[in-house]
Amino acid sequence: MSKKLLVLALLCSTTIFAQDYFLKKFEPFNKEIPSPEEFLEYGIGERHTRHDLIVAYLEKLAEVSDRATIYQYGKTHEGRKLVILTVSTPENVSNLDALKQQHLAFTDPTKNVTNYDEVPIFINLAYNVHGNEPSSSEAALLSAYTFVASENPEILNYLKKAVIFIDPTINPDGRDRHTQWANSYQGNPLVADPQDAEHNEYWPMGRTNHYWFDLNRDWLLAINPESQGKLNWYHRWYPNVVTDFHEMGSQSTYFFEPMKPNGSLDPIMPKENYEDLNNLFGSYFAKALDSIGSLYFTKEAFDGTYPGYGSSYPDLQGGLGLLFEQASSRGHKQTTAFGEITFPFTIRNQFTSSITTVKAAVENKAMMRKYQQDFFKSALSRATKSKIKGYSFSDDFDQNRVKAFIDKLLLHRIEVYKSGNGTYVVPTKQPQYRMVQTMFETYDKYRDSVYYDASAWSVANFYNMKYKEVSNMALGERIENTTNIVSVPDFKKSDYAYILDWDDYNTPAALYQLQTAGLVVSSSAKQFSSQTTMGEKRFNYGSLMVPVSLQKKSSEEVYQALKKVQDKFQIPIYSINTGLNLKGIDLGSRSISAVSKPKIAMLIGHGVSSYEAGEVWHLLDTRVGMPITKIPMRNFSGADLSGYNTLVMVSGKYDLDEKERNKIKDWVDIGNTLITIGTASKWAIDKKLVDEKLIEAKKDSTKTIVRKPYVDADENIGKESLGGAIFRVDLDVTHPLGFGYHDATIPVYKNNTVWLAPSKNEYATVAKYTQDPQIDGFITDKNLNEFLKPSASLIVSKIGSGRVVLFADNPNFRGSWYGTNRLFLNALFLGDKINVPD
Ligand SMILES: [Zn+2]
Repeated sequence: MSKKLLVLALLCSTTIFAQDYFLKKFEPFNKEIPSPEEFLEYGIGERHTRHDLIVAYLEKLAEVSDRATIYQYGKTHEGRKLVILTVSTPENVSNLDALKQQHLAFTDPTKNVTNYDEVPIFINLAYNVHGNEPSSSEAALLSAYTFVASENPEILNYLKKAVIFIDPTINPDGRDRHTQWANSYQGNPLVADPQDAEHNEYWPMGRTNHYWFDLNRDWLLAINPESQGKLNWYHRWYPNVVTDFHEMGSQSTYFFEPMKPNGSLDPIMPKENYEDLNNLFGSYFAKALDSIGSLYFTKEAFDGTYPGYGSSYPDLQGGLGLLFEQASSRGHKQTTAFGEITFPFTIRNQFTSSITTVKAAVENKAMMRKYQQDFFKSALSRATKSKIKGYSFSDDFDQNRVKAFIDKLLLHRIEVYKSGNGTYVVPTKQPQYRMVQTMFETYDKYRDSVYYDASAWSVANFYNMKYKEVSNMALGERIENTTNIVSVPDFKKSDYAYILDWDDYNTPAALYQLQTAGLVVSSSAKQFSSQTTMGEKRFNYGSLMVPVSLQKKSSEEVYQALKKVQDKFQIPIYSINTGLNLKGIDLGSRSISAVSKPKIAMLIGHGVSSYEAGEVWHLLDTRVGMPITKIPMRNFSGADLSGYNTLVMVSGKYDLDEKERNKIKDWVDIGNTLITIGTASKWAIDKKLVDEKLIEAKKDSTKTIVRKPYVDADENIGKESLGGAIFRVDLDVTHPLGFGYHDATIPVYKNNTVWLAPSKNEYATVAKYTQDPQIDGFITDKNLNEFLKPSASLIVSKIGSGRVVLFADNPNFRGSWYGTNRLFLNALFLGDKINVPD
């Protein structure tokens, strides 16, 4: 026996219990195939498995078995592989292309195939979207081994009737952040005390991805490579059943669907999905968990209303998305009110649900297929009945924002056409009708008003896309990709000046690159019209000017620098040979002044919303190419702020003492810009950093208290919070913070109850909710009338020669608010141009 084999044999004999605990039921196993335990050299549940080892194990299975192949569908921000292991019988695996074609025929509403029971069912077992909910990826290893190596008749039967796609880790970056934590603090013997460091991760914890995004909200918005890769895979396979494994707080048991029965149903989802399919599958999970003695609950919690969850998006593709929530051992063993939860126990429940998902899908395969076929057929028949025949949209001033929106539509396989008059059209009559509805339709009536998450997701509004319902239209050329959507004319070399439109989404990134290249770039506070080398052109507030003679570079070098940014960012640039304009101010006007290069810091760490901080970081890294210094809260009192001109404080609970608050105030006072978002704006007002007010509840001491049943408390109180809705504001497009907009009415996203009173200064309320503010989503009448309508969304407050920009609402929400990102970027670039007269 070789040394390696001897070690393996010893390992196996000492931990044989671990394997039996999970796998006994599915014996015998093919001895040629290494179990996870043999491969990793520890038993599942004894440690947290690193993602590279998870991938290596699946690669090994694909290498040694003809039941499996592995496919890489992407890479994370940190460069980790995103993979799917496809498992079935060797016959099915070698015949996969043909099976796929047969399967896809059911998703094509123009076809009438009826061999429902003859094609294997397609199942996507997907795990670990939240990195610090680790039991599921360990269960993925056990599932993969079981389907690849078990010779048990039950498993062989499933393989004949199913193709199983195992995605072991949807969020590898977050998972490894948590894995490192849990393994680093693991005691020997294990420490179950909930106060131990092992059970208490530090900020930002492992739930989110590299940029601290919740990937279980990103299926619709698809901002991150993890979701983009997955969606591209998804739309090639359209699985019939998809799992989404999670963990919840430790003081609980196990949850599977159905979710809240009279909950907030997505108005466009077929009701059979909620009522019939979830109840049917739920009965299987109940039986399986009963058989291993695990407690569970259904129906009381969670809602699948928001279409961007891993358990709701498949429902919009004719599949069945299944949410599982396991009480977390968060670490290897933890004491709870239910006794001790061990990591292996949590893994076994997830593994049991995995195998049971396959069983339920296989035993109902003809019905599930017919359901998917009916789903896509009903898309066409419903669209035919609808009065709305399509949506048209365009934006004459910002081609790159239009492109980003079309990219998103195409990712969801929505058909987009160019129409005769230069606008784009999305017809409703198409297989993805329900996704069209999801992107464009708005709702303000719901049966239920307590949301687990957002109540508004009309993505067209996220992009500030002006769209119209159309009742008839002529479809032009279909848009297959967005490569040629943006067209910018070449510009000639000038020895005098160049003008850049500030209206384009990419112009801030271009500005930063020009500043980094050492060019002086100015911004215009007024509108003007010029004779450019491409003819007469009207320029909006904020237009950038690059004067040639003021640069420390030759005119050829200036031209080349501008060519380079146009190549990269596809923005309109104009050459100009005279300073005398046709209308408005001339190019030498005092209203055109140099833009300071932003030097930005942001407070992060304990108490700060990692989501909002991550959104700022992501925006600047991935779209502007601008570095941002992330200062941990614990270092703030000693930090030197003199190197920055802008400080960002996103929502959070800021535990800063008076000295630290004065440090910020003194730094603003000398001419710098503080940007506060959401609850940080409330904090700045509460702590009297700025002289502004919040709109408070009217105190009425004579009001009689009405007694209410205790059991209704959660529901009643929950209604008053604002889960997330879209409102209309009136923007001052002449204010530096409003530059780059043409239409003063824009949508904003609100998911907090920060109500800023309009400024006492007549020029400092930059955005205010309109008198008819509701666009999409739920808000109580009380919140709408007493708080929202009288309040402001964005104000500026002066401190000495500096200023605080106070956002009530998050302009960078989930990385997808292309429509309001500009407000935030204006604050970064143009903050010091705001000189509010007292
Ligand atoms: Zn989760």
